[in-house]
Amino acid sequence: MTPRIVVLSAPSGGGKTTIAKALAAQFPDRFGFSVSATTRRPRPGEQDGVDYHFWDRETFEKAVKAGRFLEHAEYAGELYGTLKDEVDKVLRSGRHVLLDIEVEGAGQVRKYFATTPGLSLLIFILPSEPRVLIERLLGRKTESADQLSKRIKRAKYELQQATLFDRWIRNDVLDDAVREVAKAADEDGGFRRDQSDLKWLDKYGSELQLQAQQVWDELHHQKG
Ligand code: ADP
Ligand code: 5GP
Repeated sequence: MTPRIVVLSAPSGGGKTTIAKALAAQFPDRFGFSVSATTRRPRPGEQDGVDYHFWDRETFEKAVKAGRFLEHAEYAGELYGTLKDEVDKVLRSGRHVLLDIEVEGAGQVRKYFATTPGLSLLIFILPSEPRVLIERLLGRKTESADQLSKRIKRAKYELQQATLFDRWIRNDVLDDAVREVAKAADEDGGFRRDQSDLKWLDKYGSELQLQAQQVWDELHHQKG
């Protein structure tokens, strides 16, 4: 097995964190997780050093200046970045390293490894239906209304970036998605997309905003 940098990206609610955690739990000998640094505050249950390294802005910016990040980006007003040490640690153990990161960071990873094709694999994850994406995001109940709207607005841009990715994997049944990501990581040669996927993705962006509004209205209707 060639240890790879496996990037998982998705609009918020797409399931990348769930899939990354499932992979590391089910196949601890094949997959390790790169713990990112972030300036965002921990959600209930999140642990420092396990889910993220929760840093203040000053610490984060010092690490940027010191060249400690493989990539870093701003997302919904907070800074997030992949530490080179984290990635090296997992690769040295002979396992694939999972990066749960947003699309700007994924682009930086692609550039970083441009001269070593095959070392990184970029996977974009989405449930087949935009409505399911919105329902999962709302169902997670981890964001305020303001944060939710930032994340949903950003999703449209993220979908436009999906063509930069090597693989698109649908996250409908979790076990299937986990199995597909595991298989893709072990395979050689990344590009597996067809015309029907392109059409699907094209429609997704416009439907997403519509569905977001509808789900939102339904929720407020239920409350009122
Ligand atoms: P992301 O990290 O991409 O923002 P999460 O992994 O947090 O997304 O998933 C969003 C929500 O959807 C979570 O509550 C998670 O438990 C749920 N979820 C993820 N994948 C599935 C799936 N295949 N089926 C049902 N629920 C899922
Ligand atoms: P969340 O706040 O939901 O944990 O993460 C918000 C977004 O930041 C998600 O798209 C997540 O994948 C992304 N993210 C998490 N860690 C990193 C990182 O190290 N680098 C980049 N570029 N994005 C990250």
